[in-house]
Amino acid sequence: AHVLVCKGTGCTASGSEAVLDAFEKEIEKKGLSKEVKVVQTGCLGLCELGPNVLIYPEGSYYCTVKPEDVPEIVEEHLLKGRIVERLLYKEPDTKERFRSLMDIDFYKKQKRIALRHCGLINPEIIEEYIANDGYAALAKALTQMKPQEVIDEIKKSGLRGRGGGGFPTGNKWQFAANAEGDIKYVVCNADEGDPGAFMDRSVLEGDPHTILEAMEIAGYAIGASEGYIYVRAEYPIAVKRLEIAIEQARNHGLLGENILGTGFNFDIFLRLGSGAFVCGEETALLASVEGRRGEPRPRPPFPANKGLWGKPTIINNVETFANVPEIILKGADWFSSIGSEKSKGTKVFAVGGKINHTGLVEIPMGTPLREVIYDICGGIANNKKFKAVQTGGPSGGCLPASLLDMPIEYDTLVQAGSMMGSGGMIVMDEDNCMVDIAKFFLTFTQEESCGKCPPCRIGTKRMLEILERITNGEGREGDIELLENLANSVKASALCGLGQTAPNPVLSTIRYFRDEYEAHIKDKK
Ligand code: SF4
Repeated sequence: AHVLVCKGTGCTASGSEAVLDAFEKEIEKKGLSKEVKVVQTGCLGLCELGPNVLIYPEGSYYCTVKPEDVPEIVEEHLLKGRIVERLLYKEPDTKERFRSLMDIDFYKKQKRIALRHCGLINPEIIEEYIANDGYAALAKALTQMKPQEVIDEIKKSGLRGRGGGGFPTGNKWQFAANAEGDIKYVVCNADEGDPGAFMDRSVLEGDPHTILEAMEIAGYAIGASEGYIYVRAEYPIAVKRLEIAIEQARNHGLLGENILGTGFNFDIFLRLGSGAFVCGEETALLASVEGRRGEPRPRPPFPANKGLWGKPTIINNVETFANVPEIILKGADWFSSIGSEKSKGTKVFAVGGKINHTGLVEIPMGTPLREVIYDICGGIANNKKFKAVQTGGPSGGCLPASLLDMPIEYDTLVQAGSMMGSGGMIVMDEDNCMVDIAKFFLTFTQEESCGKCPPCRIGTKRMLEILERITNGEGREGDIELLENLANSVKASALCGLGQTAPNPVLSTIRYFRDEYEAHIKDKK
């Protein structure tokens, strides 16, 4: 039997270290060490119910497990083969308890590609990754495919960047492959800065080798021999697991010189970010990796032509890379059969706010918002009424109930005044004031503005002042129009994505909840 204990950040914060310890001690005490293996894993996604424990071969899922529950689980489940019913997952509105993870609504409609190993393997043991097809895609690329064939496969898959922009990944790789240069680089953007978003953290914590493997495949495709992972220093577990993974991959001949005896050389280094939101923007990130102040610069030149230290560079985010080994292994046709016509594959969302189940959800592109909010995440908490959902992190738009049946795709979200972003999804109920929400998000982006260009530096500040006076009951006639004008100018003239998208929460709340702004101004409250 295998006892899998989640050691992602969420479960660690709710005490999974002590649960893991308790299992190890109890199993030893009962003389079961030979038959039962205790495995620490990454995140399963249902973080609010942690510490989460899975027991195989039955696949039983126990949640909110405490160290004092462990002797009962060992005695009943592992020794006597009887499930401990009281610790099984229970849906909020029913008495029914679910034995297996995959019977739970939260998982039934999910399709896990980027998160395929998270919660199921020990991320600190390379053999567990290898046993689950790890590094098989790298071996296939290096021994059976030419670099251009790798790029063609990624292009054909329809994979688009999961970090915000949605740019076709294969095209990005093609530009870098075509660019002149003796030295080229591969960079992984792991500077996940959206408040409440933790998709990338979960992949790094639960499946770090996937990122190394994907970066190596990208390096082979474009002709690079060095890669950098720019990861937030606030993610200590992710950093530790990446360090372990890099060391193990080097020791197994899977990273460094002459990889798998093919003559291909590629090594990966970590760079720690210091928490500036703007460093998620690719040119600011590159400046920071180089040791300079993390400020965006105008594009072109794009990094594919002039990136790190002026050399051709591809930058992809963690989730984008997490899809690459599966595409190489299973083929572009398999990947493009998942999702919708213009948005292929799956997307991971960090769902939070006024919802019954918060956590990580990976769904096929094209899934309607309603399915994520009601079928997967169990609907609005405390039987309140849904008011809005914000997609795309602090710079995303707030979408009303009339758009709940909209499929989640890059283009539909933009048309509706929001965006895919990196995958934050925050649900609001009838008690939320949408003007307050707009002010809240703009406060964040305004504070994070690097100040380099006036439209963002000054424009967002003026917008915030207007929002403040509206919410303080001092709103004036014409304020809504003024806000709209300012927001549109900032969007059109800011230098980088931060400024160009910062007005989204304001514009979308005016578009869909204008009556709330008017009520504030009219009623002076
Ligand atoms: Fe800096 Fe904002 Fe201008 Fe981007 S848009 S460069 S964050 S001031």
